[in-house]
Parts: sequence; C-alpha cells; structure tokens
Amino acid sequence: MESKINVELAARVKNLPPYLFAAIDRMKQDAKAKGVDLIDLSIGDPDIPTPSHIVEAMKAAVEKPEHHRYPSYEGMLSYREAVAGWYKRRFDVTLDPATEALSLIGSKEGIGHIPLAFVEPGDTVLVPSPGYPVYPVSVLFAGGENHIMPLREENAFLPDFRSIPEATLKKAKLMFINYPNNPTSAIAPRSFYEEVIRLAEKYNIIVCHDAAYSEIFFDDERPLSFMQVDGAKEVGIEFHSLSKTYNMTGWRIGFAVGNRAVIAGLGKIKSNLDSGVFQAIQEASVAALNTDDKLLAGIRKVYQDRRDTLYDGLKGIGIEVARPKASFYLWAKVPKQFNSSSFVAHILEEAGILTTPGNGFGAPGEGYVRFALTVPVDRMKEAVERLRKAF
Ligand SMILES: *Cc1c(COP(=O)(O)O)cnc(C)c1O
Repeated sequence: MESKINVELAARVKNLPPYLFAAIDRMKQDAKAKGVDLIDLSIGDPDIPTPSHIVEAMKAAVEKPEHHRYPSYEGMLSYREAVAGWYKRRFDVTLDPATEALSLIGSKEGIGHIPLAFVEPGDTVLVPSPGYPVYPVSVLFAGGENHIMPLREENAFLPDFRSIPEATLKKAKLMFINYPNNPTSAIAPRSFYEEVIRLAEKYNIIVCHDAAYSEIFFDDERPLSFMQVDGAKEVGIEFHSLSKTYNMTGWRIGFAVGNRAVIAGLGKIKSNLDSGVFQAIQEASVAALNTDDKLLAGIRKVYQDRRDTLYDGLKGIGIEVARPKASFYLWAKVPKQFNSSSFVAHILEEAGILTTPGNGFGAPGEGYVRFALTVPVDRMKEAVERLRKAF
C-alpha cells in the first residue's frame, strides 16, 4: 500500500551500502529460479545440525514455566558461570561471571551495539578491512568515523599499526580485531596481541576482539584467546559466539567477556534496548558449553576434510590460495583476467557455484574471493570439477 506520508529514511540508513549477504541472497534466488543446481559456498552458516544433546536440553528447558518470563538483562548467572568455566578449561583464563561476562543475542548484536556505549559523534574507531561488515556500520550508527586498517597478505593479514598516523591513534576511541579472521582465515600470534595491548595502553583505546572462530581450527593448533595475553583484560573485551562452535547460528546466543567497565557499558546499552536471551536457550547453551571436546574434534575433522579437498582442488586448477589454519573459509586470489565481482559472476554463470566477492568485505579485499567450507566433501569435489571445466 502507498504511504500517505513522506517516508524519508534517516541519512545513516540511506547512505548504507546494501548488506553484503542480502545482495548475495538475491543472486542465489535468481540462479535457483533458473533451475541451476547451485553449490553455495557464499555464506558462513554451518550446514551441520546442532548436536543432539543441546537440542534435548532445549526441549526440557522450554517446558519450564520460569523460562517463559522475561530473562535477566545480563544473562542467567548459570549461563555466565558456564562461560567462565569454559574459558578456564579452554584457555586457562579466570573470569568473574558476575561482572566480566555478559550474554548477547548472538555476537553480532553485541558488536553492533558496543560503539553506542563508547563512541561520541566524531570519534575515530580502528576497523580492519576486509572484515565483518557489522564493525564499520555499527560505528556509523553511533556517529563515529571509521579508520580502515587494511589487512594485506604481505603482513600476514594483520593490521600494520605503524602505518596509522599518530594523530589518528590519539583520536581513536575503540578498535575492532578478529582472529581467526573472517574472511582471510588468518590467525594472530601472541606477539600481535601484545602489540595491540601496548598500543591500547599508550593511546587509551578500547579493544574489541571478535573470536567467533576460535574453535574452528585445524591440525590441532588451537588459536589463542585475546584474554590469555597479559594486560588484555585491562584494555578490552572479547566477543564470542555459540553459532560457529556448536552449529547454533539460528539460536541467536553469544557472549562478551573481559574488562568489567567495558562489559558494564555494553550492558547498559542493552538493558535499554533488549530484554536478554530466552532462558531456555541459555539453559541449552550451558549444555553446549559443556560439550565433550571429542564431539567438537569430530566437527573440526569434517571441516578439515573439506578444507583439504577444496585447497588441493583450487591449487590443482592454478588458483592462488592459502591453506587455512582456522575458520571455515578459503581466501583465494582471483585469476589475473578477473576482479572480485567478475570472478564471482563468472563461476556462478559457468559452474553454478556461489561465492563471496572479496571486495564485499571492504576495498582491500578486491582481487580475492571467499569460499565457505559449508557443503559436504562430495559437493566440494563436484565444485572443484565444475571449476576445472570453467577455466
Ligand atoms: C558469524 C560471525 C559473527 C556473528 O555470529 P553470531 O551468530 O551473531 O553470534 C561475528 N563475527 C564474525 C567475524 C562472524 O563471522
């Protein structure tokens, strides 16, 4: 129905680029409408179901009337205790569940809201690019200004802090970092985090580390938590998600841990905007956080086999690609005759394979394409075969 009023979008919304995955979703619908047998390697959404003990815990929890009421804003203490217990076991990091952990409606929610708590209009935020699109958008929503930190191959896809002007560092209020990294699949060494902490202390910058992929690692090399590094809790927080670790993207639950003043600031924004996470989901998530590592090792093995299939396949075709140590992405260079967008269009057209153009994650991603390891090995082999024929 037509509006009888002039519906004018706010500038902060009008000026946004279309959400990357919404555009890709349209390409997918178009291809499907044409009857293409699509192999979708575009979105980082696990195809493996949530483990059954978590689903069973949910079934029991949903029956309990006490969970049918409003949850607490910061999350049930039992959930935050499970988070602290998981950090202790996995990283040997001690957290106070009462003040150093906060439930989130997925980590995207926390990432999207954190600048509202700390960024004044005109403040600068250091943002990695290519990167998760929510970082720069959340900064814009808070009226802040993004200073892009390009992640380049020659620097192992870590930001080069020496290239940031002193004046910018002085103005910076907050910094986002993300390892294991989406989309480049890079991991960060301890020395990088130490450098981050030195910089944060010197210039008074709140560090927000996004660790969504810390449990999707290969060859038994466990990525570090930022919180494992001395001084991290004094300068920042870490965002975590149950989405990727436990195949729970649809459940919408995550958490933030670390510096209590930063956690309190984010909590204050949230208590004014949302009313927490359905407690039955929190109870099921306690079961998730206590999952036997053997089960998780099985999930990692599934991704590792897919990684090996796709990595070997792409190499065989002559595509330049790094062998990821973590995350479920392959970050490949597009062949010389293409740019990111034309390559994605070409392999969709010629091979029925949907991928994500690197430039969709920010201009420094131009010249790359991201493959997600979210289809079974036999489909992965089929994808490699089709690619071979498309070149
Ligand atoms: C998937 C993802 C998230 C968000 O996950 P949630 O489902 O919102 O918890 C956050 N950061 C990165 C880099 C991701 O890829």
